[in-house]
Amino acid sequence: MKRKIAPKSNPNNTGLVFNPKFLEHEIYYGHPESPERLKRIMEQLKNDNLLECLERIHPVDNPLQYICKVHTQDHIRSIQDISITGEVAKLAVAHVLGAVQVVSMGKNQNAFCVVRPPGHHAHNAGYEEGFCYYNNVAIAAKYAHEIMGFKKILIVDWDYHHGNGTQDAFITDSNVLYFSTHNLFDFPGSGYPEIIGYEEGKGFNVNVPLGFGATDKDIISVFEEILKPIAVKFQPDFILISAGFDSRKDDLLGCFNITDDGFSRLTQIVMDIAYKYCEGRIVSVLEGGYNLEGLAKAVSCHIKELMTYRTE
Ligand SMILES: [Zn+2]
Repeated sequence: MKRKIAPKSNPNNTGLVFNPKFLEHEIYYGHPESPERLKRIMEQLKNDNLLECLERIHPVDNPLQYICKVHTQDHIRSIQDISITGEVAKLAVAHVLGAVQVVSMGKNQNAFCVVRPPGHHAHNAGYEEGFCYYNNVAIAAKYAHEIMGFKKILIVDWDYHHGNGTQDAFITDSNVLYFSTHNLFDFPGSGYPEIIGYEEGKGFNVNVPLGFGATDKDIISVFEEILKPIAVKFQPDFILISAGFDSRKDDLLGCFNITDDGFSRLTQIVMDIAYKYCEGRIVSVLEGGYNLEGLAKAVSCHIKELMTYRTE
């Protein structure tokens, strides 16, 4: 029998992004980045009695005007030409921006985006990179900064893989601080700690590689000892999480050993930072995670934390 956890309310008014159209995109049948991932997440949220408490977030109109802040017209044209996928990728961005909008306005304290395709590997290649087409989180950071007027955006990326697309989008930008934990010796092969940013962006790119089999203790100590002091200095106005759960134990594509409790703790640390500097504003966006059962459980734990009111 499934254990049911019924939160009495949603004191943070945590919002949820989901659209069944996200299930229509498929790289090919049997690919690990499958529609089943989102189906299982939504089932888990329902079984854990979270779904009924989470307010659904609507997409923004005309997302292409914001997508082009990160992606070239050539890239956008090529992606738009991919049947079904082009539309789904655009819709995913529109929903993530919808989340940034409602959290910016204070309508929702924070939000989780159950979206696919993921985004953090996307540059301007004109095709899919690492299962990504448009960089959802990078576009969200630009939107939070340029449209919503937040000065300093912190991106926390705990996916097993390095978010090379996001790093490269802001490598010379001091308004967006990109912080990533990842395995350096896996796809995409970037994420060296020496890469700290260039020009204006020098010091605003923080790569912290973890070793094979990294545990809760390893990643939590990095968040406590490296991310927290960085946040004290940076004082973000808005926080985005590239929430990849392929860093969870037993993932098909990852080899870290982060548990669901570990993800709860990481969420708490990011929330502590958010409450301290930016009135709790967090938009968390799904990236990887390919063990269907593990992904669903980890997402549920992450959302439960987001729903829990905390103060520093
Ligand atoms: Zn990944």
